Amino acid sequence: MAGLIRRGRPAAEVMGVLAAEATKWEKVFAQTKRNDPCPCGSGRKFKACHGKPDARPPLRPAPGLGLKP
Ligand SMILES: [Zn+2]
Repeated sequence: MAGLIRRGRPAAEVMGVLAAEATKWEKVFAQTKRNDPCPCGSGRKFKACHGKPDARPPLRPAPGLGLKP
């Protein structure tokens, strides 16, 4: 985090982007059935990947949810 601040990215902006992505992932996961492939692209079933209760959303942009990229 300190490194990002030194490179000129305000910490609040970085946290806002991560929070927005996490919210998007939560919506994607909420629509995913347990036996579907995990939307994170791991190739595992959702129940064996991000469908686990302790899983965290991956830190990359979520699929579009019908929105244009
Ligand atoms: Zn996953």
